[in-house]
Parts: sequence; C-alpha cells; structure tokens
Amino acid sequence: MYERFWQQMGDITTIVISGWQSMSYFSDVKNLCWFLEPEFAKQIIRLHKIVGNAVTDNYYIVVGTGSTQLFQAALYALSPPNASEPMSVVSAAPFYSSYPSVTDFLKSGLYKWAGDANNFNKDGPYIELVTSPNNPDGSIRQPVVNRSGENLVHDFAYYWPQYTPISSPADHDLMLFTVSKATGHAGMRLGWALVKDKEVAKKMTSFIELNTIGVSKDSQQRAAKILQVISDSYEPVGNPKQSGSFFHFSHSMMEERWKALRSAAKQSGLFSLPEFPSSFCNFLGQAFGSQPAFAWLKCEGGIEDCGNFLKKHKILARNGKHFGASPEYVRVSMLDRDESFNLFTKRLSSLHLSQSKDHEEESP
Ligand code: PMP
Repeated sequence: MYERFWQQMGDITTIVISGWQSMSYFSDVKNLCWFLEPEFAKQIIRLHKIVGNAVTDNYYIVVGTGSTQLFQAALYALSPPNASEPMSVVSAAPFYSSYPSVTDFLKSGLYKWAGDANNFNKDGPYIELVTSPNNPDGSIRQPVVNRSGENLVHDFAYYWPQYTPISSPADHDLMLFTVSKATGHAGMRLGWALVKDKEVAKKMTSFIELNTIGVSKDSQQRAAKILQVISDSYEPVGNPKQSGSFFHFSHSMMEERWKALRSAAKQSGLFSLPEFPSSFCNFLGQAFGSQPAFAWLKCEGGIEDCGNFLKKHKILARNGKHFGASPEYVRVSMLDRDESFNLFTKRLSSLHLSQSKDHEEESP
C-alpha cells in the first residue's frame, strides 16, 4: 500500500552498499546491543521524538529480525530460568494469531501459551501481551490481568499516526516496534524493542546472539535511511512538506480506505465493523478515530462462518477463530495494493442477503 509513496520519493531513499562494507558481525561493541547499527539507533530515537509515540530517554534499544524475533527474545528474557513450570503467556482475545503459535512452537520449558487474558486465573508470575492498537480489532488496550507477578510486553506495531491518534509518548517497561507496519517495509525484517531494565535488555540481546548472531546490517542501514527521510520531511518542526510527508500520506490513504470499506459494508447490509471514538492526535494536530491496519469484520444475517462465506465469493480473510474469537468474525487486511483493495470493496458491496441464504443452503 505504501509502495506508491516510496516510488514517488525516487532516489532519496537509495543507498549503495559496496562489497567490502558491512562485513563484520559487529556494529558497535560498546553498546549493550552490539549488533545495533548506530545510525539506525539514532534514527529510531529521532523518529520517536518527532512523532511523540514513545519515550526513548533511559531506554535500551534492542534490534531484531522483525518484532517477531524480539517477541521471542522478550519471552526468553522475562521467564525465570529455573522455575518448576513454564511461565504463562496470555493476551486478551481477540489476540494476534501468531502469539499462540510462536509461543508454543518449540515447546519451551520456560514459557507456555495460557490463552485469553480475560479468563486467566492462575497464581504466580505471568507475561501479558498488550497490543495497542490491537491486531485484529484495532482497539486501544490496557493490561487486563493486573496482578502481582505481572510482566508486560507492549506490542506497538500499530502505534503510528496513520492508524491511530498519538495521544502521548508510551513509556512502558518493554515496548516492541516494527518497520513492517510503521513504514511498510515488512521485507526488511526489522523491529526494535525499547527496554527499561538493563538485565532484560541483556538477556534479549543474548537470545538474538544465540539465535541469529545479530541482525542484518544491510537491512539496518537501509531502514536508517527510510526513517531519516521520513524525519527530514517533518523538520523543521511544524512545517511538514505535506505531499512528501509519509505520515500525512499514509494517514489520508487509511482514511480513504476506511470510508470506502464502511460504505461497501453499508451497501451490502451483511456486515458490521467496529466503531472508533475520535480523539486528538498530538502529532497530526487534529482529532480522528482509529483507522486500523486490519478490519475486524462481522458477518450478520445468520452467517456462522464468515471466512467460508467470503471465500465462496472470492474474498480471502482470516477466520476469527485463529484470534481466539467467534467464526462470525474475520480479519481483513487494509494494507494491500490499491488494485486488490478496490476489488475487495467492490466484491464486498455486492454481497446481499439472498447470497447469504444460498450459502446456508449449500452448507449443511
Ligand atoms: N505484532 C503485531 C501485532 C503484528 O500485527 C505483526 C505483523 N502482523 C507483528 C508483530 C510482526 O511484525 P514483524 O514483521 O516485525 O515480525
């Protein structure tokens, strides 16, 4: 979806890496996270300061191969090494569908997926994943368990102004960010964690050291350039070069897409979508309601399996049951290229009650 923006930016984001460059494993041996490229670290801090979405002073930065690797590093770092049983990992449903699968993939003795945080009642320490705005439903979230022994991981993949108003700089103990959703560069496979506690940051760094001996320097240099170009377009402060400013571009694109989706759902009459209250965004200087990267679409009209119904009408979406929710829901990506998104809203708007009846007759 953001490809068009980056095409329009032309060569200013181009970097050249010669064959002799970036050869060593090491980026900065004096840094706790020794494989973090200094220029990438600098641009991360600069961007957070400009956008105002996270505090960076007195935080350690740990870079990862996507926030997916950092999520695993965080589980490793927060779980006691010698506990008699694995640490419970919970998140309020509907939760990001990768959390359970990534957590239990290697059947670790250190931690174990324990499901929906709303139903969690086991005593003792636990890890709660707080995703805000949430994937899949876009809700703004706080921890729900709130008991002693809590370890929180805040996944802020979507805490950027194209998706939600930036109300204040986040300052939690362990916060995850990713270029995938911030700038659209999912293929760079880069994320970063802002970590308050030195020992936790050290353990996360050890995890990545043992897992992949660091993180691609080429990717970090490329990402540093992308972040730098975004920040340059917002400085001097208060003077965004509107057309060339990434968050203005992406915010208005998301706004248009949500309008198109809501109008398609209304035209069809078969679907409902979450509503988001409007609030003030300190970065954009205006109030708006969230316009999430995913639509949490509910099939109305007695359709029990929304994913299956849509599939029959050539729309691919992820079934609600993968997110710990009912199959009446699906998650639809709002971030595809224009062509696919337009086709999606066109197909959605043309679905009516008669088709839902056909569907029920077909499936016993
Ligand atoms: N957290 C959330 C909430 C996500 O939605 C995603 C991507 N779908 C990720 C993490 C993973 O991001 P990355 O590409 O950085 O591994």
